[in-house]
This record gives sequence, structure tokens and C-alpha cells, in this order.
Amino acid sequence: MAKIFCVANQKGGVGKTTTTVNLAAGLAKVGQRVLMVDLDPQGNATMGSGVDKRKLDLTVYDVLLESASVAEARVQSSKLLDAGCSYDILGANRELAGAEVEMVELERREKRLKNALAQVAQDYDFILIDCPPSLSMLTLNGLCCAHGVIVPMQCEYFALEGLADLVNTIKQVHANLNKELAIIGLLRVMFDPRITLQQQVSEQLKERFADKVFNTVIPRNVRLAEAPSYGVPGVVFDPLSKGAQAFVAFAEEMVLRIANQ
Ligand code: ADP
Ligand code: MG
Repeated sequence: MAKIFCVANQKGGVGKTTTTVNLAAGLAKVGQRVLMVDLDPQGNATMGSGVDKRKLDLTVYDVLLESASVAEARVQSSKLLDAGCSYDILGANRELAGAEVEMVELERREKRLKNALAQVAQDYDFILIDCPPSLSMLTLNGLCCAHGVIVPMQCEYFALEGLADLVNTIKQVHANLNKELAIIGLLRVMFDPRITLQQQVSEQLKERFADKVFNTVIPRNVRLAEAPSYGVPGVVFDPLSKGAQAFVAFAEEMVLRIANQ
């Protein structure tokens, strides 16, 4: 049965999509069966996995509106297959932006993704959900089906402030909609050890959140930023880069955490 994780942080540009696609590729590389769900209308995780969002017949939008099943809408990427890091993709594009409004009238609207993913849970070890930069109905759908939340964060001054809002939302979802939900961990990303402030914030994080902070640290690495323009995760684009190696280490850390739960 798949363990389902949301990659969430209501701030934009903090590394959610980079984390989702590279963790997916890293997990695939260490032999895990993975489905990546793109819940952001920008469709960056879809494109970054080698799937053209403009050419998709069915997306997560159709799944949320129950006009398609996950089994019908998921796709594979030949680029990932060739690299031996293959994972399935439930893609997104701009159409998804309308889902929010269209779902307002529907019953059990926050449980739609949960119900849909339950049908394919046997096919995977991990399902990773890339959330949009908001605490919207889309993110709520993600949080409702997840066992845990992975929070990528940059070690900057305002990082802790934004975290409080996310922690509150997760507490509310936990109390009202999903008893299983917990923050599985904070992932320090785009880390530059030469910057004293980043080291300080990193220490504060460890003091406050202890073992909720992943051991693996993702460095700032230009190869990770270049990879999306080639339509592949950094783990595939340049496996020997520091960034790629960090994400494979993070995948191994995730596998261990799940095994020890
Ligand atoms: P989000 O999904 O939270 O909006 P992204 O994953 O799209 O954030 O990352 C924002 C930008 O930062 C992108 O241009 C991405 O390529 C870049 N980026 C993310 N992680 C790293 C990293 N570890 N090193 C260098 N650049 C990164
Ligand atoms: Mg994103």
C-alpha cells in the first residue's frame, strides 16, 4: 500500500516542485514504485517530469471532477524510462485553476483526490503530491489524502513565520478531516553553508523541531535549477551533481523513515 506525502508550503519559489520531482526520481532510482501527482495549475512538476502539459488528454482536473480515474489519467515519461528513474505522472495544466470554483458546489469536495488515489494505492510504494503555493481547496485535497507533509524550506529569516500558518492548517485538517496527517519533516533546501544566517536558522530549526528536521540537506546547486528546461529532474539530468546526490540520499532517508514507523 502506498504511503502518500504532500510537498507543501504556501510560499512560492521555496523548492516544492524541485523537491517533488527529484524525490520521485530518487525513490524510483532506489527501486520504489512512485506516482507523482501535480496539484499546481502551473504544471511545473508535469513539465519537469518530461510530460508536455499542453498535450495531456486527461489530468488531475478530470480526476477531481470524477470524469476520469487515476488509472485512466496517469501517464509515463519516456525520458524517465530511458534514465532508469521511471515514475508515473498524474499531470496538471491551467485547466486545474478552474477546479477550485467548479468544486465549490460539490459534495465531499475535499475528499475527491483521496477517494481517487485509494483505487491505485496498491500499485505504488509512494505517492507524492506537488501542492500549489496556497492553502486552497487544491492543497486541502492533497492534505486530506496524505499520511504526511514534507515541508521544503529555505533557511531564511522569515521561514519560521510562514511555517506557523502551515502548521495551523495542518492541525485543523488533522482535527477535522484527516486523523493520519502529520508533518513528517522539514527539508532544508537551497542551502548555502557559507551564509551565516542560513546556518543560524538551520540550528534554530533543529532546536525547535528536533527529529522533524530531515538529516539530509539539499544544497543550492545550479544543476537542479537547469534541469527543468531539459524536462527532467536534476537526479536524471546530472546524477553526479551535488544536488542530485542529495536528493537520492533524501529518498533513502524517506525509505528508512517509513520502514521504522
Ligand atoms: P516552488 O515549487 O515552491 O514554487 P520551485 O521548486 O519551482 O519552487 O523552485 C523555485 C526556483 O528555485 C526554481 O527556479 C528552481 O529551479 C530553483 N531551485 C529549487 N531548488 C534549488 C536548489 N536546491 N538549488 C538551486 N536552485 C533551486
Ligand atoms: Mg511549484
